[in-house]
Amino acid sequence: MSSMKFIKDVYAYHGGLPLGCMYCVQGVKIVIFITGLCSDKCFYCPVSSHRLHKDVMYVDEEPLETINDIIEEAYNIGAEGASITGGDPLLRLKRTIKVIKVLKEVFGEDFHIHLYTSGRFLTVDVLAELEKAGLDELRIHPTTQELWSRVELAVKHSRRLTVGVEVPVFPDMVEELWKMMLWLDKIGVKFINLNEAEVSESNIEQVMSRNYSIARGRAVIEGSEEAAIELVKRAMRHGLRMKVHYCPARFKDYVQMRLRLIRKAMRLAKYYENVTRDGMLEYFEVLHGVEDKVLADIGEATGGKLLLPTRLAREIGLRGRVIRRYPTLRGRSLPIEIESIPKKSYDTA
Ligand code: SF4
Repeated sequence: MSSMKFIKDVYAYHGGLPLGCMYCVQGVKIVIFITGLCSDKCFYCPVSSHRLHKDVMYVDEEPLETINDIIEEAYNIGAEGASITGGDPLLRLKRTIKVIKVLKEVFGEDFHIHLYTSGRFLTVDVLAELEKAGLDELRIHPTTQELWSRVELAVKHSRRLTVGVEVPVFPDMVEELWKMMLWLDKIGVKFINLNEAEVSESNIEQVMSRNYSIARGRAVIEGSEEAAIELVKRAMRHGLRMKVHYCPARFKDYVQMRLRLIRKAMRLAKYYENVTRDGMLEYFEVLHGVEDKVLADIGEATGGKLLLPTRLAREIGLRGRVIRRYPTLRGRSLPIEIESIPKKSYDTA
C-alpha cells in the first residue's frame, strides 16, 4: 500500500526517508566538501565562487588542512555519518576513497556515508572502488540528458550500495521530472530527493535570465515547493516503489544545520559557556579585572578579563558584555558582542 507523509512547512515524502536523510534530519552527519572541481556548468549551481572550480576542501563550512580535521569535526558533533559533496568528488577519486576508508576505520562500519556526483565520471570500476571503500549511498545528480544513463549503470552494477537521485525542482519541469521518476522507479532506483531550488549570489543572474521569480522573503525559486509537492503526491497516487522526498531549503538551514551546531556546541562548551537555541556558545566578559577569588575560580581569567557564565554575571549585576561565538575547530571563530551591560560596576572593595 502506498504511503505519504506531508508535514506542512517542513517536508513531504512518500514511502519513507532515504537512510542518509534520516541521519541528516537529526544533525548527526558532517558535510565534507571534498573539492570544488567540477566539469559541469549548471545554471542553478549553488556553490559559491570562492569554492567552485577550485580544489579546496571544507568540513561543515570550515576550511580543512588535514584529514584529521575531518575526524575532529566528526568527533565534535558526535557524528554518526558523513555526506561527501563538491564540485564533483569523483574528480578527486583517490582523496574521496581515502576519506571514506579512514572514516570507516575510525568510526566503524555503521558510520553512514553518502556521496553526491553528477555521474559524469562514474564507471563500473569507479563504482566498485567506492563500494570497496565502504560507501553506503550514492546520490546522482544527472546534469544532462545523457547522464541519466549513469543512474542505470549504478543500479545495475551496485552490490550493497543504495542508489538514489537528487535534483532541484523548477516549476516548469514537473512533467519532465515526472517522466524521469516513472523511469527511475522502473529501473529500481531506491529514492529521489526533490530539492527546493535555491537562489544564491552565485546563481542569481542565471536564474533571473531564465525568467524564474524569487519567492517573497525567501532565497528560493517561486513555485519550486508547489511543484515538488505535486510530484510527491503523484508518486503516492501511482504507488511508486521508490522513496520520494521533498527537502525544502529552510529545513536545511533551520533544522539540519542548527541541530548540528547545537550538538557541536554542547560538546565543545567550556564550563562557563552555555549553548543558545541557535547552537552558539555564550559567555559573559567582565570588562575590567575582578579581584574576587571565588568569581575568578568560577570563570576563566584571560588577558586581564574574566569570562563567566552569563546568568551568574547578570544575577550579581556585573558590568561587561555578553559574547557569542560559533563552536569551531581550534576556536577560530570571531566572538560577536551581543549586548553591553553598563548598569552597575562590580566593586570588590
Ligand atoms: S554538478 Fe553540482 S557542483 Fe557542478 S556545476 Fe552542477 S550543481 Fe554545481
